[in-house]
Amino acid sequence: MKAVTWQGPRDMRVEDVPDPQIVDPTDAVIRVTTTGLCGSDLHLYEPLAPFMTPGDVVGHEPMGIVEEVGPDVRDLKVGDRVVVPFNVSCGSCWTCSRGLHSQCETTQNREHGTGASLLGYSKLYGQVPGGQAEFLRVQFADFLPVKVPEGPSDDRFVYLSDVLPTAWQGVRYADVPDGGTLLVLGAGPIGDMATRIALREGKRVIVADRVPERLARVAALGAETIDIDAVDDLGTEVRDRTDGRGADSVIDAVGMEAHGNPVAEKLIKAVGLLPDKLAEPLMLKAGFDRLAALHSAIDAVRRGGTVSLSGVYGGAADPMPLFQMFDKQLQLRMGQANVRRWTDDIMPLLVDDSDPLGTESFATHRLPLSDAPEAYAKFRAKEDGMIKVVFTP
Ligand code: NAD
Ligand code: ZN
Ligand code: ZN
Repeated sequence: MKAVTWQGPRDMRVEDVPDPQIVDPTDAVIRVTTTGLCGSDLHLYEPLAPFMTPGDVVGHEPMGIVEEVGPDVRDLKVGDRVVVPFNVSCGSCWTCSRGLHSQCETTQNREHGTGASLLGYSKLYGQVPGGQAEFLRVQFADFLPVKVPEGPSDDRFVYLSDVLPTAWQGVRYADVPDGGTLLVLGAGPIGDMATRIALREGKRVIVADRVPERLARVAALGAETIDIDAVDDLGTEVRDRTDGRGADSVIDAVGMEAHGNPVAEKLIKAVGLLPDKLAEPLMLKAGFDRLAALHSAIDAVRRGGTVSLSGVYGGAADPMPLFQMFDKQLQLRMGQANVRRWTDDIMPLLVDDSDPLGTESFATHRLPLSDAPEAYAKFRAKEDGMIKVVFTP
């Protein structure tokens, strides 16, 4: 089959790889019909290169049709239409039964000290072949895949794999008080979807980014916007708009690709060029994260407010402004989305004919899988008005 493979920093290629097989009796194999490109894939593209192996199949936002099921699969049938959550989670362990699917104890990666395995997401997360491919092996077939009805297009449902539950969890963790203001940092797919969810719940939402078309898109939904390049200081601008206090809650939907720290940018490039044996510990322990957005979040939140971190940070990082965090009595909540924890809560909004979250027009680009190498480069450079890309394998 054809699949998008990682070959080196900023080098994704569509290659022929072996078709996935049923390995465990509870597995299924799906034929992928739509599969997303995510800001998280950009971390693999460059900063997380030390944890990648040439040939790794990437992608973690797939949906499709069940082709084959293992002998112990009871409920899932060949022909079912499913979305596959990006956390490989069993549904029955101690953490899964507490709604913490991103920490699944059955698939945790103890040798790296990390949580549940993730589709297509490096050695740190199990090196599981990903979903930017024609076919995908799906573990825990009676629990993990979310069955979706026939009828509406794939665009309606595909974001259940990641974007929707991540944004949903971001908003839940942000815990915006009634009448309160939410600041969303980053107007990529995650920040944009979090904005839609919070606006629908009647919150005042301010979104900060620097890409004009991304800001325009959330402004059209009813958010206020801040172009971070047009203000001297983001925190001051937010306080000016919130009675001098700051936002009640902030969602960081940026992560380690943050713009604003040229020194760290150079270091990430340098680490990417080191042999993996040297680069891995450097990336994990010293950490070359770009913490610009997280620092903005901590600055722009009001005293007693909540910071909700959806953005992914890779290393052990630059020193955190811990004193300021403690002094401001912040609540900081974060983590990979517990996808399966939220999918039932979100589903009514997706089967609603009026499509209240605008999923049908959320993707700005639908491309054949063969265009993936160019799409990665353009998405990273934010060219061509590219906000969300989905591929048709
Ligand atoms: P994206 O890269 O398209 O969006 C990030 C946006 O942040 C861009 O529009 C960029 O211009 C903007 N930005 C950069 N620096 C900024 C700054 N200093 N202040 C404000 N905005 C800034 O990616 P995405 O797909 O929307 O993902 C966003 C983040 O969420 C990534 O870190 C991704 O890894 C993470 N993510 C986390 C989960 C999870 O489970 N927690 C799931 C999916 C994605
Ligand atoms: Zn994703
Ligand atoms: Zn589990």
